[in-house]
Amino acid sequence: MSVDPNTPVLRNCIRLPLPEEELLEVTAKAKDYAIMHGAAMRSKTSFSPDSLNFAPFVLVPSSFPRKEFEKAVALQPIINRLMHNVAHDEEFITTTLAETIKVDEFTANLFNIYRKVLAHGYTQAYSIGLLRSDYLGHVYEGCAIKQVEINTVASSFGGIATHLVQLQNFVLRELGHADKLPNMPKNNALAGLCDGMVKAWDIYAKPQSVILFIIEDVSYNICDQRFHEFYIRETYPHIKVLRRTLTDVHREGKLGLNKELLLGGKLEVAVIYFRAGYEPGHYHSQDEWDARYLMETSLAIKCPSIQYHLAGTKKVQQALAQPAVLERFINDPEEMKAVGKIFTGLYSLDDNDAGNATYEMALRTPEKFVLKPQREGGGNNVYGVDIPEALKRMSRVERSAWILMDLIHPPLTKGYMVRPGAEMPPTIVDMVSELGIFGVVIGDADHIIHNYQAGHMLRTKLSTANEGGVAAGLGALDSPYLIDSDDDDEDEN
Ligand code: ADP
Ligand code: MG
Repeated sequence: MSVDPNTPVLRNCIRLPLPEEELLEVTAKAKDYAIMHGAAMRSKTSFSPDSLNFAPFVLVPSSFPRKEFEKAVALQPIINRLMHNVAHDEEFITTTLAETIKVDEFTANLFNIYRKVLAHGYTQAYSIGLLRSDYLGHVYEGCAIKQVEINTVASSFGGIATHLVQLQNFVLRELGHADKLPNMPKNNALAGLCDGMVKAWDIYAKPQSVILFIIEDVSYNICDQRFHEFYIRETYPHIKVLRRTLTDVHREGKLGLNKELLLGGKLEVAVIYFRAGYEPGHYHSQDEWDARYLMETSLAIKCPSIQYHLAGTKKVQQALAQPAVLERFINDPEEMKAVGKIFTGLYSLDDNDAGNATYEMALRTPEKFVLKPQREGGGNNVYGVDIPEALKRMSRVERSAWILMDLIHPPLTKGYMVRPGAEMPPTIVDMVSELGIFGVVIGDADHIIHNYQAGHMLRTKLSTANEGGVAAGLGALDSPYLIDSDDDDEDEN
């Protein structure tokens, strides 16, 4: 992606560049610190279950406007409630996804489970959402945050993000900038998310029951997942965490007399935390879909339950961005205004007049947009000038599997990105950061009993990359260094 040369650059946390010797020394230390504190992942290129690489990270924390950070934090409980209400609005979910499921097989499969669950009635009234709302600052509106997407399934990096603050604290101290630490907000994502799972376990109220993590066949982001598991066992020694793939659950899972989910005929599952199951590749055959359905009809509390999963689709996000629709879910006019402001333009590509108008607009000015399918996990979107060709390949009906969104133009930061196997020392690059705010919400259709914000994460990518997935290898983990717009900092550069 080309970057407008006039894009503002945020003031750095410390003066760069660092002298080469100092840079080499602190980078080598930081890499070891990362591995030793679990800011790490399994290698995709030379995978071994016995070893780790450090996860790509940004050496010095990237700047983020304090006001916007605080706004995102304050909004999270409102967004939690919004998503909870959306998930429990059967009519809205059904009509919003009606066109999409005609052409998107994966969403249709999820929807099919939803339909069957509705037909039989929910076995478990409670759901737990561990959400992450992602934002980019938008330079054309004074760097105001705009929501990129909301994740309701497998919202990752709460574990590593919590430890990354310590890593960057260490780096700043090493560089003689301990005075900067107060501008790095504390991050309790791991505790907040895991405590949420345990609150759900408490609701289930069976002392011998376990928490089940649904995992991929191979977990590259193993540390992030293990942080959750180990935190639960260390903080709540009486609770066991099990890890199983969808295929395992198909083989081992059964429902008991009261529809309890039983593994291996005896272990009862209280809470199911999905770290897999959000993309088609996780379902190798009908077996995995059957396992998902089995879990969905069980008494276990699902994170997310199927209605939450569907509420997190891009299509639902697009529908919510229309003020008339948002009104249906948020009563308070002030809250409505605040949430409305974080949405950027999102447009339907359904097979109707509005969808056709979107199509024409995308062909006229593709550089203003990003085209998104109903997928998670990065690498699925189509950007700018590539959009017309992609759209023209689709039939009118096929387009309804996608939505169109205004491109957000984030400010730049400058810094060092450190990645495994890359040349040393790192060089200064232009970067942009995406802020993720975690939220926990637990309730049934009528009541919310827990609703709180739970920490944050920052993911930073090269300004020239369209996407910055860390697992996908394009982004790096980071934490925000909060700056005030009226600061007159001597380290400005
Ligand atoms: P996924 O579910 O694959 O994570 P996202 O909607 O988060 O899908 O898009 C992936 C990435 O693409 C984001 O992390 C961001 O870097 C970039 N992106 C998505 N939407 C926009 C947008 N409207 N403007 C600019 N960049 C975007
Ligand atoms: Mg995303």
